[in-house]
Amino acid sequence: MDQSPLLTPAFSSRLPEVGTTVFTVMSALAAKHQAINLGQGFPDFPCDQQLISEVNTAMLADHNQYPPMTGITELRHGVAQKISALYGHDYNAETEITITAGGTQGIMTAILSCVSPGDEVVIIEPAYDSYRPSIDLAGGKTIAISLIANRDENACVHSYSIPWDNLAKAIKPTTRLIVINTPHNPTGMVWQIADLDRLADLVRNTNALILSDEVYEHMVYDSFAHQSIASHPELAARSFLISSFGKTYHVTGWKVGYVAAPVAMMNEFRKVHQFNVFTVNTPMQYGLASYLKNPVHYLSLPSFYQAKRDFFSQGLAKTGFTLLPAPATYFQCVNYTALSIPQAKLSEADFCSWLTTEIGVAAIPVSAFYAKPVESGVIRFCFAKKEATLSAALERLQNL
Ligand code: GLN
Repeated sequence: MDQSPLLTPAFSSRLPEVGTTVFTVMSALAAKHQAINLGQGFPDFPCDQQLISEVNTAMLADHNQYPPMTGITELRHGVAQKISALYGHDYNAETEITITAGGTQGIMTAILSCVSPGDEVVIIEPAYDSYRPSIDLAGGKTIAISLIANRDENACVHSYSIPWDNLAKAIKPTTRLIVINTPHNPTGMVWQIADLDRLADLVRNTNALILSDEVYEHMVYDSFAHQSIASHPELAARSFLISSFGKTYHVTGWKVGYVAAPVAMMNEFRKVHQFNVFTVNTPMQYGLASYLKNPVHYLSLPSFYQAKRDFFSQGLAKTGFTLLPAPATYFQCVNYTALSIPQAKLSEADFCSWLTTEIGVAAIPVSAFYAKPVESGVIRFCFAKKEATLSAALERLQNL
């Protein structure tokens, strides 16, 4: 009998441009070379033991079966109360808040729930690498504009600002969604109230919805303050608000976050969510609901992380790197082009590979936040680490 080989039929990729996400690639490279991993954004210190015992208690109390599709009532109400207290917007916990398997799932599901084939979605680059593939899977068309880097007389970046002229041009009657991210990964830029007002002016007579990625909402430093989309009633009426317990409570591996949106948007979100993940693990939700009752756990984060940023940036200031502003998130970006080593001429991706394999410190190339890599000689370090880890990394970087 004729033995035909077992071949997988050819099919076209839904995401032909996409490889493995840079965060996974750099973490794997760091592990392979035993480098200190300041690449992918996650803490290397333990979460509060109280949170672990709350989850244990929930498991022992047999909260181990499917929770409601939208998330457990206690957690949705806790989230509604937190948003109301901090940002003054009263989301209905029953109809307007859904617990997700992390921020990235919330983003993907929000995009799939409102973007139809051919719809235009505006993003501002550098942008988190999941936005564009999520838009692609929905069949949408990404319109990318670039954040403005403001420079001093020595060409050093001292701040970032929103490209208002380009944003105004990008928003058309056909625009379905605008994705914003504040505090911003990787630059730490924080939207101000005046920025939200200006965005409201641009969208007022359009049907554009907004997705506001605010997963770093509790990591804002110096004199800056987080301005949530929820604090702006006019924008909140057309926005998905995304946040992450993983970021806030140092448990990125638990993959629990939430999305808040007006009921009409949340109805559509839930239609997709139920067939995307259906539900999010039950005991973690009970643990988080109990832990969320004490606001100190998130209100203490700015000073906790600002101390880490200051420790790390003071150490980096003694190296040849040029520091960029780091007013928020747990990332410090630096420019390496003024280093007096031949590697200063490498592309950002090659520089990060070299830094990981030869110096033993992993970082993320900021070019990975662009569809067509823009080379500005900037890489991102994550400072959500124990002081010992930051010290060890600084020691390896000090001769650069
Ligand atoms: N948001 C995190 C970062 O920017 C990583 C999340 C992920 O790896 N998917 O590093």
